[in-house]
Amino acid sequence: MKPVVTRIAGIALGLALPLLALDAQAAGVADTQGKSPKYVFLFIGDGMAMPQVNSAEIYAKAIASKDIAIKKLRFSQFPVVGMTTTYEAGSFITDSASAGTAMATGNKTLAGVINMDPGKTRKFTTIAEMAKSAGYKIGIVSSVSLDHATPASFYAKVPSRGDMYDIAVQLTQSRFDYFGGGGFAQPKGKNKDQADVIELAKNAGYTYVNSQADFQSINRSAGKVLAVNATLQDASAMPYEMDRKPGDLSLADYTRKGIELLDNKKGFFMMVEGGKIDWAGHANDAMANISDVIALDEAVAEAVAFQSKHPNDTLILVTGDHETGGMTIGFAGTKYSTFYNKIAAQRMSFQAFTDGFMKPYKAENKGAGKFAEVVPMIEKSFGLKMADLSAEEKVQLERAFVRSMGGEIEKNPLENDYLLYGGYDPLTVKLTQILNQHAGIAWTTYSHTGVPVATFAQGAGQEQFNGYYDNTDIFRKLVKLMKLQAAVKVAAK
Ligand SMILES: [Zn+2]
Repeated sequence: MKPVVTRIAGIALGLALPLLALDAQAAGVADTQGKSPKYVFLFIGDGMAMPQVNSAEIYAKAIASKDIAIKKLRFSQFPVVGMTTTYEAGSFITDSASAGTAMATGNKTLAGVINMDPGKTRKFTTIAEMAKSAGYKIGIVSSVSLDHATPASFYAKVPSRGDMYDIAVQLTQSRFDYFGGGGFAQPKGKNKDQADVIELAKNAGYTYVNSQADFQSINRSAGKVLAVNATLQDASAMPYEMDRKPGDLSLADYTRKGIELLDNKKGFFMMVEGGKIDWAGHANDAMANISDVIALDEAVAEAVAFQSKHPNDTLILVTGDHETGGMTIGFAGTKYSTFYNKIAAQRMSFQAFTDGFMKPYKAENKGAGKFAEVVPMIEKSFGLKMADLSAEEKVQLERAFVRSMGGEIEKNPLENDYLLYGGYDPLTVKLTQILNQHAGIAWTTYSHTGVPVATFAQGAGQEQFNGYYDNTDIFRKLVKLMKLQAAVKVAAK
């Protein structure tokens, strides 16, 4: 109980902790040692390792002050932190399917496979299914489509994460109590010739809501709920947090509604994914990445508020499934300095710029167009002033612009397109890379990396999550804490 004494001493000494820190600490000092949680939250920041968490903390401070200091997130103040390895069966660099399988079932598998062994013959039972059998209510929330790899890892078993229609059908058969957030990538199958999954869900007893008004008014009398956000941006996902219109639903709203719908005496298990942290990482867009980390933190705040009412029975875990983008704090061009305040001038995500500006501009100016014409929009969208760019950066942007416009003749044969642009709109990705470099933020890849992630814990059984362990151990620790061993044995038969 030593850490508890230290924390109480810290509060008694009147250390200048912000109010939120005190709330978090207060929940942490509840007598939770060895307790079995009745209410379990598992927050997964897709593509979120320490560079993403710490960048959000640096940014939150940098927009208000020049001090070299950080503003902690709610979850980075949790009393227990562990480090978690993420490698999968075939690589040190996992994808979300194999990482989700590891956390949800305790098994390593290959990239792309969801809840099946590497040979794709044996199916695994998930922690959410076990909890359901044990009487917990189950909620699955994601800012990306509900048939995406991370949410699917809690209810589906498929040889390929690309089988998104099969995944969606399995969602409707899951009997889980609440699904909320994004929509479906293939609601009628790859060829749009299958039964609509929304209809299948309704037939399976789900109340389907798709408008903000219906979402707000829905309550426990609705039974099982499938809530799809009214506004979907790319690939049936909710918009990036920085593109979300004021008043539109957030990940925190979906989390709060989940708590309202799932709250019952037997307990619940809710997985909430911040899925677009990963997508912003793939695209090397730090501002979109950081704002989605902050959106995840705001969703965590909803769980913390619930926990303050049930301090002895609630466990909140926040982890990542892997790192994305090779994001780091430090760039050769800025040496030991960072300027995180510079990304604050970015007004929209890379996706909103590509969809809202580059696509129509390209359509209007087929193969032509002038870089000077897009400069005002660049300055407005990213806060990048041409006068602040080096001659080399201007050349990079102009070359990227030509590539964006489809000017293949301009291509330098020594250039590797993938290394330069990663398959994104060339101008857009070059803009966020240059802006991020000015801030002292660098990226190494458009894919995932193999670095460990941090796992933060607060509440009943939190002490289990101290130390350095594997992502499969998250399943094992939860099984032990939630007393689901019997369910594991039945599933193994
Ligand atoms: Zn990814």
